[in-house]
Amino acid sequence: MGNSVYSPGTLPARLTPHEYEVNFSDINPGLSLHEAMVEADRCYFCYDAPCVTACPTGIDIPLFIRQISTGTPRAAAKTIFDSNILGGMCARSCPTENLCEGACVREVAESEPVEIGRLQRFATDTLMDENIHPYKRAHETGKIIAVIGSGPAGLACSHRLAMHGHNVEIFEEKPFLGGLNQTGIATYKTVNDFAQQEVEWLLKIGGIKFQLNKTVKDLEDLHKLTQDYDAVFVGAGLGDVNRLNIGSDKFQEAVTFIEELRLASDYGNIPIGRNVVVIGGGMTAIDAGVQSKLLGSENVTIAYRRSRSEMGASEHEINLALKNGVKLLTNAVPLGMSGDGTDEKLILGRTEIIGGKIQQIEDTIELPVDQVFMAIGQKLEFGPGSLAIDAGKIVVDSHGRTSVPGIWAGGDCTNLGEDLTVTAVAQGRDAAEDIHRHLSK
Ligand SMILES: Cc1cc2nc3c(=O)[nH]c(=O)nc-3n(C[C@H](O)[C@H](O)[C@H](O)COP(=O)(O)OP(=O)(O)OC[C@H]3O[C@@H](n4cnc5c(N)ncnc54)[C@H](O)[C@@H]3O)c2cc1C
Ligand code: SF4
Repeated sequence: MGNSVYSPGTLPARLTPHEYEVNFSDINPGLSLHEAMVEADRCYFCYDAPCVTACPTGIDIPLFIRQISTGTPRAAAKTIFDSNILGGMCARSCPTENLCEGACVREVAESEPVEIGRLQRFATDTLMDENIHPYKRAHETGKIIAVIGSGPAGLACSHRLAMHGHNVEIFEEKPFLGGLNQTGIATYKTVNDFAQQEVEWLLKIGGIKFQLNKTVKDLEDLHKLTQDYDAVFVGAGLGDVNRLNIGSDKFQEAVTFIEELRLASDYGNIPIGRNVVVIGGGMTAIDAGVQSKLLGSENVTIAYRRSRSEMGASEHEINLALKNGVKLLTNAVPLGMSGDGTDEKLILGRTEIIGGKIQQIEDTIELPVDQVFMAIGQKLEFGPGSLAIDAGKIVVDSHGRTSVPGIWAGGDCTNLGEDLTVTAVAQGRDAAEDIHRHLSK
């Protein structure tokens, strides 16, 4: 794991241990009981609430907020988990400004939505801190389902299947469970090993076994699983990344850098450049840029080939980056490097969008650079053999059924997704319900 480059200008331990502790502390700490009660009181408990429609897992938001306001946060947590078993992580990582809070009537009327995400965190933390797992399994059905991948999609699918009394066996190629909850979500959104604790809490349902360091490689593996198991669910995410063909050892994959950070026991061991450029415009680019700053980099620039309004990251995230001192350079594409040693520069060509297409114009800029992080998208690594693929993703119907009977899929690896934790949870859960219906026939 990791592809750290020690080149001139790229150094570990730029900050003191105290500075790392402050920089990587919880960006949005939990509410106290009093704060939660005050916030819950702001909800209008709307009939046909738009926040519910905007939540990909369809949590009954007015109900759980009312349960908080009536002093029953454990019941509120149960309302959340009934729809979203990873409600704790989603409360920390969802771009709520684009989902429930973006649709809240108080956002529309007053630009101040009810803080649904923080209330969700308050409720789920209350139950999880007491180590209560509020579900029991139905009677054993004797069926066993193989789940490939233990990210949000695989975990949500496994939990729902286990609840229905089926047995589950997860195959996970990493030495730990959790997928991008463990290796992708920015460190400051999920502190204190929350992702690991959440997995342990989820497994308390029982009936879920797992094999770590176990890659389901190819069509042959997959077909064997369909013979040995009653159903197969693929939640393999997007394990590969798009790369730029610029021959320089200063170029690194942003997701590898982020994974290294998430798994680090000491941030002081992570080398970071004085001058960093991140190529891309999505959430990964923002996370790489912000975390470079937090590690002590002096100049961080996110370079994106189109305009700000076309960036995949939300305005909220872009503003977070700007607030942390990250610079934004739009309409710029990397072309190559100039100079050498401590004096290397990244050459970027200016672009214009003509008829929706990117055109490079006769204008270049050079930025001093010690490290360049590529955050230009991920792609399917899983070799799906005979599964139908569209635009590089596994084709599924609204129940998560693939083109091969007996195989379901969900999350980032499918063509349904918006590549968010919460949509992966929804798709894993819905596929589990469909598998259950199929096996109960
Ligand atoms: C850097 C980064 C930051 C992000 N930040 C956010 C955020 O703040 N909020 C948000 O909502 N979303 C965020 N996302 C997106 C979110 O993490 C994903 O949409 C979500 O994790 C997808 O879940 P998944 O279960 O489909 O896949 P993953 O989480 O990718 O899990 C797939 C699992 O399958 C395993 N696997 C893969 N191939 C095989 C195989 N052949 N055999 C066995 N196991 C295999 C992998 O090791 C992995 O554990 C971020 C993504 C990235 C990359
Ligand atoms: S839209 Fe806002 S005010 Fe209405 S129920 Fe949802 S959170 Fe409450």
